[in-house]
Amino acid sequence: MPEQLEARQQDLLQRTRGFIEDHLEPLAQRYGADAKALRKAVIAASRDAGLYTLTQSARFGGAEAGTLDLTVVRECLAGSGLDARRYVLGPQPGFLAGAEGKLAERYLEPLLRGELRSAFAFTDSRDGAPTRAEKVPSGWTISGTKAYVTAGADADCFGVVARLSSGEGSLFAVVDASAPGLTISAPFRSLDGSHHVALTFVEVFVPDDQLLGLPGEGLPRAMRQIGDTRLAMAADGCGLMAYVLDHLEAHLRAPHRSGAPLSDREGVRLRYADLRIRAYAARSMLYRTARLADAGENVVNEGIASKVFITETLGELVDTAIQLEGGQALVEGHPLERLYREVRVLRLAEGASDLLRLNLARGRFELSKGRI
Ligand SMILES: Cc1cc2nc3c(=O)[nH]c(=O)nc-3n(C[C@H](O)[C@H](O)[C@H](O)COP(=O)(O)OP(=O)(O)OC[C@H]3O[C@@H](n4cnc5c(N)ncnc54)[C@H](O)[C@@H]3O)c2cc1C
Repeated sequence: MPEQLEARQQDLLQRTRGFIEDHLEPLAQRYGADAKALRKAVIAASRDAGLYTLTQSARFGGAEAGTLDLTVVRECLAGSGLDARRYVLGPQPGFLAGAEGKLAERYLEPLLRGELRSAFAFTDSRDGAPTRAEKVPSGWTISGTKAYVTAGADADCFGVVARLSSGEGSLFAVVDASAPGLTISAPFRSLDGSHHVALTFVEVFVPDDQLLGLPGEGLPRAMRQIGDTRLAMAADGCGLMAYVLDHLEAHLRAPHRSGAPLSDREGVRLRYADLRIRAYAARSMLYRTARLADAGENVVNEGIASKVFITETLGELVDTAIQLEGGQALVEGHPLERLYREVRVLRLAEGASDLLRLNLARGRFELSKGRI
């Protein structure tokens, strides 16, 4: 339990715990592997419980929770260890945050109502040409190839970052999945079970009014969106740490064939204590960053630090927990086996750890930014 939460956040925490017990666990049991039915039932229950719209702005009828509020809820949900936790919070504006006028009407509002699906096309393919945008009358044409676009096969539109051919920065545009010249191909599934596609653009026309922000300023705007996602990922990661530690503790306390519970062995205790120390550091980092964000501070560097530390620590934690639980933890369907696959991707998705380290160092050496 994070300390010194305000009454509102304590209430949210209690509500989330109650929701897990009364709805999420029973629904996960009832629907099992029927992901479609489970998703529908969890969304309906979450709406009734007033959790679904916490991620959405008051302007669109949402409950608009702050960063710390959402951190508390996300961490608590992930502590359940249930996959179905992903359906509890409604879609966030994502790259459409701040969209106004026609863009808000056509994309943002239906997205928040759950009627439209979007995907984020940021990473350039290694095999195809890098994505470029060229100015033409009343708009732009985009050419090149994007890779790893998560959930792209089901998306109605994409947020696309493309470098300007003039060499002056990049643009960030909304492109319809049906736009002439756009091909969606090479679907694959990654280790964690998520699905991705490649996008190939051949002179895809994008009108001026489909741009998010100004041409030339696409990358900083896209990075802001990724920054929000990183903190959400960190909160989810801390919840999973709590889940893994609880699971491991129960195993270490249980009788073992060696004659004494493993928790009696000094070598095991040392390793277990190390995990708790790291989890404590990770949570401290997460909650400090969330509070700084709510105070209106720029937390780009702290968000990067949290994402790198928490996803790496979570990876070590799951790995050590498997080692201490033994071969049974690698049997298909065991919670740690599933988590091992799930958490490995986090050190690459939303920014590879090494590249984020380079960004952090650049923030210090070139911009004198960042706290310790
Ligand atoms: C599950 C999953 C979901 C994803 N979803 C999306 C999505 O929805 N949209 C999207 O656009 N992308 C998505 N990605 C792509 C993700 O953002 C990239 O995989 C990530 O940014 C790394 O890029 P890369 O794979 O091309 O590897 P590279 O950029 O080639 O990096 C590989 C490694 O090389 C090293 N390296 C690379 N460059 C440098 C450097 N300059 N200096 C030092 N070391 C370096 C690092 O060790 C790095 O880990 C997803 C990836 C995964 C795994």
